[in-house]
Amino acid sequence: MGRRFRRSDPAPRPLGPVPGAERVEELDGEEWYVRSVTGAGAAKTYRCPGCDHQVVPGAPHLVAWPVHGGLAERRHWHSACWRARSRRRPSGRRP
Ligand SMILES: [Zn+2]
Repeated sequence: MGRRFRRSDPAPRPLGPVPGAERVEELDGEEWYVRSVTGAGAAKTYRCPGCDHQVVPGAPHLVAWPVHGGLAERRHWHSACWRARSRRRPSGRRP
């Protein structure tokens, strides 16, 4: 009694109780949940932490939030900026 685990889930790596997360990727030595956002689902303007430019409504992009920080710390990135995040330098980047 009480066994409610379902072992038929085909997901290779269960992400736990995080609705919407598609995968886990690394940023600055931390693990982040990542989810793609289609243009149709984007209704607001966000600021991309990768390039410090706007992510405009209707633009396909992705949202990432730290595994240990939670959804409240989610950020919206241009897809290309997220892929290039490892080349980002916290300091020393010249304009
Ligand atoms: Zn960007």
